Order: sequence, then C-alpha cells, then structure tokens
Amino acid sequence: MTTKNIQKYKVKYLSVVVPVYNEEGCLQELIDRTIKACEESKKKFEIILIDDGSEDGTLEILQAASRQHEDIVVSCILNRNYGQHNAIMAGFSIVRGDLIITIDADLQNPPEEIPRLVAKAEEGYDVVGTIRQKRQDTFFRRYASKIVNKATQKATGVNMKDYGCMLRAYRINIIKAMLECRENSTFIPVLGNSFARYTCEIPVKHNERAIGDSKYSLWKLINLQFNLLTCMTTFPLRVLSIIGGLISGLGILLGLYILIMRYFIMDEVWAMQGVFTLFAVLFFICGFQVTALGIVGEYIGRIYTDVRARPRYFIEEILGQKKKTKK
Ligand code: UDP
Ligand code: MG
Repeated sequence: MTTKNIQKYKVKYLSVVVPVYNEEGCLQELIDRTIKACEESKKKFEIILIDDGSEDGTLEILQAASRQHEDIVVSCILNRNYGQHNAIMAGFSIVRGDLIITIDADLQNPPEEIPRLVAKAEEGYDVVGTIRQKRQDTFFRRYASKIVNKATQKATGVNMKDYGCMLRAYRINIIKAMLECRENSTFIPVLGNSFARYTCEIPVKHNERAIGDSKYSLWKLINLQFNLLTCMTTFPLRVLSIIGGLISGLGILLGLYILIMRYFIMDEVWAMQGVFTLFAVLFFICGFQVTALGIVGEYIGRIYTDVRARPRYFIEEILGQKKKTKK
C-alpha cells in the first residue's frame, strides 16, 4: 500500500493496554516507567492493566496502583486466566483513548519507546508495529518465530516482519473493528493488520526477561501458533487436499507399475521384493493421514468453541476508572 494519501492526525488521548499474569516482580517498575514515558509524550493518558487471573501478589499491587493514580492506572480484573490475547481484548473493550498501545508487562520491551510509537502513529498510520532489535529470547523461540513470521506473511499477504512483538500502536477504529470479531482464538497483531490501511514497523529495543519466567509453556506456545495459523486462513486445508491428491496419484501409478511388472513382464518375484517398499509407502500415507486429520481437528475444535459462543473473557471488576467508555 502506498502512503501517498496518508493524513497526519493529532492523538488526543492515549490508552496503554497491558496484560498481566503473575508479574508481581516487575509490575511496580512497569507502572512507574510507563507513567513517565506517557507523560513524556505530552498526551492525556490512561494505563489499563488486565489481571489475567494471577495467583501471586499481582492483584494487590494493581489495587494499590489504581488507588494511588486514580483515572490514570485502571485495573481490569478477570475472574480467571483467559490467555494473553483475550486479556488484551478485555482491555480494548474499556479503552477511552483514540490511540491504543499494547505492551507486555515483563519489561522485555521498554516502555520508553512509547513516545516514538505515538509520533509515528501521528504521521497517519493505522497500525504501528515494531521489530525487536537483537531479540533476547532463546534460540528455539527466535527461530520458531522466524518461520512463523514468514508463514504469516504468506498466508495473510500483509508484509510485517515481526508479528510476535506485542509493543504496537492501533488507532481506535482498528480496535473497534477487532472488538466486532467474535472468534475465541485470536492473534491480535494479525487481526489488527487485516483492518488497517496504512501500517508500518519501527525498530525497538528488546531486553531479556529480568524477573520471573515466560508465562508461555511449550503447550501454550503450540496453541498460540495454531491460533495464528487458523485465525486468518484455511490455506493449510487446501495444502492438505493437494498433498493428499498427489499421494493418491502416486499410489495409482505405483499400482499400475506393479501390475505391469507382474502380468506383462512376468517378473514374479518383483511383487515380493517390493513388499518393504510398500510398507514404507504405507507408513508414509498413514502418517500423513493422521497429521491431516489433526489439522482438520484444529479447525473443528475452534469451530466448536465459537459455536458455543461463550464470552472470550469475563470482567469481574474495573478499578480506577471514573468515567466509563462510551458504548
Ligand atoms: N500473559 C497473560 N496471560 C497469559 C500469559 C501471558 O496475560 O496466560 C501476559 C504476561 O504477563 C506478559 C505478556 O502476556 O505481560 C507476555 O507474556 P510472556 O512475557 O510470558 O511471553 P514471552 O515474552 O515469553 O513470549
Ligand atoms: Mg516476555
């Protein structure tokens, strides 16, 4: 998309949305640094912290912060753990700003980058993404996400380099469009981009997690990658059909070859000798079928969850917000 007709605008009210799950160690520092960074941007602002069912001292810290900074630090308490992306959605539902910035609570992305994102958004972008410079994650995480980024670019047709980085800015119209989407398995950066006209990415610093461990177990991570894949496209299903077609084509050819060898060239032993080849082919096809079934299952599971249409989150309480969002 060219940026020829892009129009500058002035941000009036900034909402920073932070999902928090068992982050008692770094929460106070996050709140202090984020307030300072927002003040630097010279905008009216609010920081919405969503407690995603934490079991440590997170809730107490949030309650105290909302009391201390009323109408600036807003705590949105969910009744249980719904996962990072659903927690962010809950935060989106109560924002009052016209530019919304998402950031993780673990300080891997420094809040000091916020004014740069605001400045970039004011150039007229609907979504400002970020690319983590010298990413401080494990080798496995870095390479897995490289592959995922490439696949997402192909599947969505939106050319962003780093989908995994949650430090992002969205204009309110994009947030409203995202809230209209009712599916349970969302991946916010991809969903947001699909509604944007003008997007860009800026490089940002990335630090190691100083306190606590990643809140993503391998299992949660696998689930997230499947969400990313299935939330935008049914392309994998088509690939399965194509591979399935190719394999059955090969099977027919192999069958014909065996028939010819057996009855026309009269090579009696051939069929016997080929038995192990057949086993190999059989195992391959069985394996493929089970994998294919698994992928189909991933889609069906998500259809099931969406058909039940349960709410994505349940907000138990909102603290520190005087005037509610207009709905
Ligand atoms: N998080 C959350 N709910 C979860 C898992 C994570 O709200 O079920 C939050 C977490 O507190 C953090 C952000 O999402 O603010 C990113 O999590 P984390 O840093 O553990 O992920 P990683 O950096 O390892 O990808
Ligand atoms: Mg992190």
